[in-house]
Amino acid sequence: EVPQDDERGRRAPGLVGRLFGRGPAEAPVMRRTLDDAMIESLEELLIAADMGVDTALRVTANIAEERYGRRVSTREIKELLSEEIARIMEPVAKPLPLYPARPQVVLVVGVNGSGKTTTIGKLASQFRAAGKKVVIAAGDTFRAAAVEQLQIWGERAGVPVLTAPEGSDPASLAFDAMAKAQADGADLLMIDTAGRLQNRQDLMEELAKIVRVIRKKDPDAPHNTLLVLDATTGQNALSQVETFRKLADVSGLVMTKLDGTAKGGVLVALADRFGLPIHAIGVGEQIDDLAPFDPDEFAAALTG
Ligand code: GDP
Repeated sequence: EVPQDDERGRRAPGLVGRLFGRGPAEAPVMRRTLDDAMIESLEELLIAADMGVDTALRVTANIAEERYGRRVSTREIKELLSEEIARIMEPVAKPLPLYPARPQVVLVVGVNGSGKTTTIGKLASQFRAAGKKVVIAAGDTFRAAAVEQLQIWGERAGVPVLTAPEGSDPASLAFDAMAKAQADGADLLMIDTAGRLQNRQDLMEELAKIVRVIRKKDPDAPHNTLLVLDATTGQNALSQVETFRKLADVSGLVMTKLDGTAKGGVLVALADRFGLPIHAIGVGEQIDDLAPFDPDEFAAALTG
């Protein structure tokens, strides 16, 4: 169980605080001998933080190799741990790559509730602020509520949202959206997709068909396939990546809801296992709450 901040707003002890068994890590600089018991506790804490067993064991082994049998302080452990985590995360911290294609097509996939709509709205706003002409296609045509939400986000971002009648073929919408984005000289076309995993075969065919039709307009499209993941689902994120990689050619990740109590330890496991770039993180429900992924900041927050 990961401890929560208390009702008086005092911060719960982070990983290292708990390792030393008392108060937050920022409190007195305690020293303990890095022995087998401490190594085991560290492994357990990292696993509980969703870092995955393999990654947790390796990170711990690296720290043990450097300091085994020595007296270590909370600060030292925190630094060593942060360094190990940042080293795993650095190669995957990459903003969404931009291509000269007009439009650059970004297919957005993920389970319902992961934050696809919100992330599309935030990205649209950022690209628009950077002077790009953006078009959104509401490809989850089976969920009227999803289309409505996307329209609201489009208004907020000042970006047109193309829709199709409820229940109509998402691929046909994607094709029309592609034609319109090309005719308008848009820089970016973001296509929302359905997130119902209950019928994977169906979803796989739907996504494949979208890709097939947009390739009739541009053989290189989609240029990016973004998988949106919810940090609060912990270890589930791993199986979602596995599943969606079978359904689509996932090129990068966005992790949402990192503003809550979720510290996103699973991102370390994801980076270690899949090496997919993390293009951005969601840090709130507002339009500006999308940040680049910063490995050092992330590592500090996770270990703190
Ligand atoms: P979709 O079904 O994948 O399109 O998910 P939505 O974009 O509708 O998001 C589902 C819920 O998560 C909404 O209530 C959003 O406000 C919320 N949400 C999305 N991203 C974030 C985030 O980064 N932080 C927080 N706190 N909430 C988020």
